[in-house]
This record gives sequence, structure tokens and C-alpha cells, in this order.
Amino acid sequence: MLWENLREGEFERAIEASGGVCVVPIGCLEMHGQHLPVGTDTQTCYHIAKEAAKIEPVVVFPGQYFGSVPGLQAYKGAIDLSLELRLRMLDELCAEIARNGFKKILLLNGHGGNCATFSAFVRNTVHTKKDYLVVARNDFQYGVQRLAREIKAGQKFPELTDEDIKNVLDFSEHEYASGHACINETSIMLAINPESVDVSRADEVTGISTHRVDRLTQKPYALDGGCGFWVLNQPNCFDGEHIEMSSANIGKVILRKRIEYQAEACRLLKEDDALLSDYAERWG
Ligand SMILES: [Zn+2]
Repeated sequence: MLWENLREGEFERAIEASGGVCVVPIGCLEMHGQHLPVGTDTQTCYHIAKEAAKIEPVVVFPGQYFGSVPGLQAYKGAIDLSLELRLRMLDELCAEIARNGFKKILLLNGHGGNCATFSAFVRNTVHTKKDYLVVARNDFQYGVQRLAREIKAGQKFPELTDEDIKNVLDFSEHEYASGHACINETSIMLAINPESVDVSRADEVTGISTHRVDRLTQKPYALDGGCGFWVLNQPNCFDGEHIEMSSANIGKVILRKRIEYQAEACRLLKEDDALLSDYAERWG
């Protein structure tokens, strides 16, 4: 059930069928090398939220594009709203979704840079008295490295050709770079929005780390410079190599696994009736 597709008279039934769960997919607009579109993260988590809702019925809010991308103003396509505005937007958005009758809100995060903001928002919002819950989860739990381990363990993947399997195993064995606009994200986008991908442009900029800030981070007492450090190491907003090993088939497997996780997470939240009353007791 997509919020934007519901007619006014259908909301009551949608709230009932969803157990009051509304999923809000949030990514960002930021450079993803020269081969993937700037909206990759939102398109991915919105797709996952929509497909998971077909397995475990919940209402899915329109995919949100305003994420945490400080330091990326040098690159075209990035929209970097202030932290204050984004926190306020999360707060008001959740309150409005709850006012419509959805009392369990799941923020589905599709962008690594959002983790800290979401965690801070959820951490603070649960301690304020209200008649709804907000929880978050990140959508990055499955990629090529894990797929390689499962192939080696004998699991079968009907989506994959022999060439896909060879590429996944080679990629994993050589421990090629992957982290952003990499084989995982490229394969996903080839599966869900192939017209927006141009693999032939991947080598126009390097996805290999400059290692400029490793001196500060590769320590047991590592410093955390957030996105600032990341951009110094990955100045092309690209952390990956051998993009030509990506395929829509690999993307379909990654998506299937992530969709299953999301459906399970929705089920968990739907079935949990204790959390809100547990909080209510603490609020007094
Ligand atoms: Zn991304």
C-alpha cells in the first residue's frame, strides 16, 4: 500500500491492514561516481520498502530525498539541507504520519551518511511523551561479500548465471573495493532502473581510496571525522572498482535478500504491542 496511491476513504482500512505501521524510506541526493544517478539511495530503499510491503502489508510513505550530505556541495546534484531543518522535518513528518493514524513509524535508511542523524533522532524522540513510536533500520545488510560466502556454502541462486557466480567469487576473493557506487549499488540499479546507469563511465574517476586520513582512522583510538574524512579518502564519492563485474542478476539477489529482511522487520514491528505501552509507563 503506497500512501500516495491511497484515496481518502481507504486510509482507515490501510491503517488496520498495516497494523498501524508506516515505513518512511529516506536516502539522499549525492554523487555516486559518474556511472550511477544521484538519487540511487532513495530509489533503492523506496523499491525495497514497496516490495517488502507486498510480502508484509504496511503503508509506504513516498521516498524522501533529503539526507545528510555535508561536504558534497562541490559536486553537482547534491542537496545539502541543514541538520536543524532535517531533524525538524523528521519530527514534523512523523507527527503528521501519526496524526493520520499510523502509530508505528519505521524510518528505512538507504544512505550511510544518514545513520548518525537517524540514530540521534530516534534516541531523542523515544524519550518524549507521544502516542506513537519511531524506530529506524539501515538497509545495507546484504551485498556481494555475503553472497560469495553463501555460494561457497552451497546455496543456490536461480537468478545467477555461471558468469555472475564467477564474478561474485572473483570479486570476493580479490577483496576489491566496495562501499559506495560499488558493485552492490550498481547491480541494484541495473535491476531497478537500468536506463539511469552507464557502466562505461565508471572508470572516468577512480573509486580507490586516497588513504589521506587513514593516519587518523586506522588506529585503536581512531578519530571520527564523519563525512569530512570520507570525502578526503573518496573524493569522487565512489568507493569501488571493477564495476564491469556488476549485473542486474546480482542486483536481483541482493534486492531479494534485503526485501526479505525488510518484510521481517515490518512483521516484527506489527506484532509488537508491548513497546509503546512500555514507553508510556516510563513517560508516566
Ligand atoms: Zn548510495
